[in-house]
Amino acid sequence: MTVTPHLFIPGPTNVPDKVRMAMNLPMEDMRSGEFPKLTLPVFEDLKKVFKMKDGRVFIFPSSGTGAWESAIENTLAPGDKVLMSRFGQFSLLWVDMAERLGLKVELCDEEWGTGVPLEKYADILAKDKNHEIKAVFATHNETATGVTSDIAGVRKALDAAKHPALLFVDSVSGAGSLDMRMGEWGVDCCVSGSQKGFMLPTGLGILAVSQKALDAQKQAGRMNRCFLAWEDHIKTNDLGYFPYTPATQLIRGLRTSLDLIFEEGLENIFARHTRLANGVRAAVDAWGLKLCAKDKKWHSDTVSAIYVPEGIDANNVLKTAYYRYNTSLGTGLNKLNGKVFRIGHLGALDEFMVGGVLFAVEMTLKDCGVNIKLGSGTGAAAE
Ligand SMILES: *Cc1c(COP(=O)(O)O)cnc(C)c1O
Repeated sequence: MTVTPHLFIPGPTNVPDKVRMAMNLPMEDMRSGEFPKLTLPVFEDLKKVFKMKDGRVFIFPSSGTGAWESAIENTLAPGDKVLMSRFGQFSLLWVDMAERLGLKVELCDEEWGTGVPLEKYADILAKDKNHEIKAVFATHNETATGVTSDIAGVRKALDAAKHPALLFVDSVSGAGSLDMRMGEWGVDCCVSGSQKGFMLPTGLGILAVSQKALDAQKQAGRMNRCFLAWEDHIKTNDLGYFPYTPATQLIRGLRTSLDLIFEEGLENIFARHTRLANGVRAAVDAWGLKLCAKDKKWHSDTVSAIYVPEGIDANNVLKTAYYRYNTSLGTGLNKLNGKVFRIGHLGALDEFMVGGVLFAVEMTLKDCGVNIKLGSGTGAAAE
């Protein structure tokens, strides 16, 4: 088979040819006088994607997980209390990291398929009169379950309690595809990576931070840190350089992906993701299958996790799609393994591609013994 594999996992996503070609360059001198002409505008343009009103953006040669760690290490001290919620594999891993870095986690353990519990957050924050909670964490888009949470609602809960805690948001599978209004929502650290909405290969951790977070970083008693330390980055980034060797190709690619993002327009991109996700959801409905997301308000426009019927092994669905139809779907993570498959519908994507993956899923499901009518899902999506 000489056809390029069809990739519908929620990251890495498909890299547009323009972006891929922009990275096909000879290595360059990252200390030259020319390099800041690339980097300084990239830093500025990233702020527009996150809709920041102040602060700055850091770029690490890491995956998104590095940006998670950087947010914690630069603003919090071991023993600090933080408010978190867990409702899928990625929010679970974030809690695990916070605990391993020595934070005291006040945890809301939620049903998988739901999201950030706003009422519980509001309640806990209102009761925290001494402001022991230093940061509130929210997973914007839980990629394991296909659930989007209401970040504006978390801000409302903080404001209602007049609580000064920092607000940390994981938008690794949201930023660039879902609306992220850091300024308006008072988000202090927004974590992202290169390989999802930014349509790049893996390799950049992107961390947007508010002025409030930068001020918190200056206070005494924080964690030890080195590779991900903001102060080293600030010193060099201000001049367009980095404290160690940057991923020059990826930053070239990021330049082009930002150009594509602004060419289409952020609002148009969000609307495209909603439209295409509605198509996927219409297909799921027509197949008579259920989403992992429990309610319409949790529906993610970047990824859908879909339950297979009782008696069907979702891993067999994945294998069949891969070997028979050259199509990668997302696997069920942790306790969802074997029970769901996921369709990543984010980044560089159009109707043709969504139609293609739904067509492949229909044939796959039929092959795996699911009783569905061929054409039902693709037809519903087209409608
Ligand atoms: C992908 C993802 C991560 C992890 O990012 P890596 O780049 O794999 O380190 C974290 N959170 C969410 C919500 C994700 O989708």
